[in-house]
Amino acid sequence: MPQLARRMGRAKPSAIMLVAEKAKQLKAEGRDIISFSIGVPNFLPGEHVYAAAREALAKDSGQYGSNRGADALLDAFLKHIEQVGMTGYTRANIATGIGAKHVIYNVCEALLDEGDGFAFPTPYWTSYVDIGEILNADIQLLPCPPEQNYKLTPAQLDAALAKKPKVFLFNNPSNPTGMVYTREEIAALADVIVKHPDTWILTDDIYNRMVFDGVGYHNFVHFRPELRDRVIFLDSLSKTYGMPGWRVGFMAGPESVAKAVTTMNSNHITNIPEIVTAAAVAALNGPQDIPTQKNAEFQAKRDQVMAMLNSIPGVVCPRPQGAFYAFPDISVAFGKSHDGKKIENDVDFCNALLEAKGVACVPGSAFGEPRALRISYTCPTPQLAPGLQRFQEFFAELK
Ligand code: PLP
Repeated sequence: MPQLARRMGRAKPSAIMLVAEKAKQLKAEGRDIISFSIGVPNFLPGEHVYAAAREALAKDSGQYGSNRGADALLDAFLKHIEQVGMTGYTRANIATGIGAKHVIYNVCEALLDEGDGFAFPTPYWTSYVDIGEILNADIQLLPCPPEQNYKLTPAQLDAALAKKPKVFLFNNPSNPTGMVYTREEIAALADVIVKHPDTWILTDDIYNRMVFDGVGYHNFVHFRPELRDRVIFLDSLSKTYGMPGWRVGFMAGPESVAKAVTTMNSNHITNIPEIVTAAAVAALNGPQDIPTQKNAEFQAKRDQVMAMLNSIPGVVCPRPQGAFYAFPDISVAFGKSHDGKKIENDVDFCNALLEAKGVACVPGSAFGEPRALRISYTCPTPQLAPGLQRFQEFFAELK
């Protein structure tokens, strides 16, 4: 029998989905499950988005569209990113895809040959490793433990870029930690990057509208505009607009990279469907009250989560300031038992928590930090307090 390609031996399904599947199965068995596991925003886009989709459906041409993205979508995205200081781009700098994940995959495939250096901080969003492995890149992890607030330092970046990786991928605000780099921190990292001209810089900033405490969103190009030649900014409708299933992602960067992604599209997807395009344009150009209100709600939920985590002796959680995740170091529980079940590591912890209390979290090892776990706090508001209480009880019952 013929074999699959060698790269499929390196490809893995997402570890996050495995936990979500187990929680789903327990729910189907009638268990009362509160899910802190999956990173979906849990709200719907405004009626104007549905109206635009319906209107497009009514006059659907049924034809192929532009590989890069419809002009109306490119223009709406250009206007959207101007609001976060990403100015001076034109349609030629933009490309779209079926969600940011697809755009990241395409950009990586366009930039990385087999064996090329692919550097990014740990904890990382799981797909970075999976994409790097499929492409057979030389993955270079830059450890950012809780002791340094999960943030990369300029000295670490300097050492990493001195090895001339082909691509450095940076995620801000972060999934899984919720960390947001300050203006000063981004400026200091940008000063390091300009000294290392051989590396492409990918900024996965899909949570750029989900920032709390007035920290603001900052990008390297704000401080060092000369970096526009090699910074590729990634964005998505999924989280900001409550549209993860509509699958719309974007990049803004050098024309050569946008053209390469467009070429990839012409060989993979051809185009984003016309109806989805109309909905995406309406989301970007329409009223922004839902994203604004949701951001305020997430900030309040963050406060609730942090109050609970801070009350547990030995649990350390650098304070998240964006997205909708908290990433506590729960290693104080390792070596203890719950209900006679020994907890040796993060996976044991998450399994015991799910089985005993019906609370689903994702083990930190899925993100390269086995001392932690990820809490995604997008559940409906009435579920948050009981979920947090169960988490707290679980800790209190450890022996
Ligand atoms: N980048 C990060 C950091 C994410 O957390 C996610 C989704 O969870 C993505 C990219 C992918 O988003 P999309 O739904 O646009 O593919």
